Amino acid sequence: MRRDVDIYSYGYGSFRDRDRGDSIYSSYGRSRERERRREDEEERLRTEAYRRRKAAGARHSHRGRRALLRRRRRRRRRIRIAVTLGAYLLLLAAAGAGIYGISRGIRAVVQTFSTAEDDGADGTAESAAPQASVPEEKTVQVVLDAGHGGRDQGTSYQDVLEKDINLAVAKKTQELLEQAGCTVQMTRDTDVKIDNYERAAIANRAEAQVFVSVHCNFLESGEADGIEIYYDGGKTESGSLASRILREMIAETGARDRGVKTEDFIVTRETEMASVLIELGYLSDSQERQNLASSAYQEKLAQGIAQGVLSYLGIKI
Ligand SMILES: [Zn+2]
Repeated sequence: MRRDVDIYSYGYGSFRDRDRGDSIYSSYGRSRERERRREDEEERLRTEAYRRRKAAGARHSHRGRRALLRRRRRRRRRIRIAVTLGAYLLLLAAAGAGIYGISRGIRAVVQTFSTAEDDGADGTAESAAPQASVPEEKTVQVVLDAGHGGRDQGTSYQDVLEKDINLAVAKKTQELLEQAGCTVQMTRDTDVKIDNYERAAIANRAEAQVFVSVHCNFLESGEADGIEIYYDGGKTESGSLASRILREMIAETGARDRGVKTEDFIVTRETEMASVLIELGYLSDSQERQNLASSAYQEKLAQGIAQGVLSYLGIKI
């Protein structure tokens, strides 16, 4: 650099410089001097700025002002992009929230209208669930059990089979009870074999109020005819049901009243409701067998059973 500058400023110019007319005493010399001072000052400031940047850990500081401006421009662009992106996201979120709100609003309006329509129509759909009377109506009141079935024929005389008479009478009884508005479930309505415990289980699962098992009797030696009804001795409700049914059956058929009896049968023991086992008559008796095989007599038997059950349930016909 110009080590001689200070000398000039104090007025001690070298002969070499003075010979060139480059002296502070000439006007040219003074203007040169001012220029040198400005240049020195700029250099000093640049150096200082460089040191400052270097101390601050700035890399690439040597690349100069244009590079710095480029970086600034880039940074500004990045900030602009980030801000724009943020704004877009905000806008999207707002739009999403708006659409959600609108759709909710629409749904609410639609629901209001559709509910009003439903109420106007018949009050079904949603309003059906809280109505306690609906499931109550579906509850099975009576389970009818046609004894035997399938390979298990029960008693028989030639081609007259107990299982067929039992099913015929049970079906006729079902029809009569349903006509009276009763809900009825059959343990079987076809010629199939069912385990006696399963018959009781069907009634228990249905939570029926009444269980009626239908059978026919047979006496190997001697003579016997007429109707008898069995129930489980420990169940007084079953005794009441048995009495009502027997009374009605005798009135309908005119058959011999053999009375209500207690016996330990699976179906009457295992059932959790009022339950009876009816012996419709004796297949061993020729006259009664003829009756039992006829549809007209079966109808009378069914009438008696149905009326007895309805009487027990307190249903008037
Ligand atoms: Zn039987």
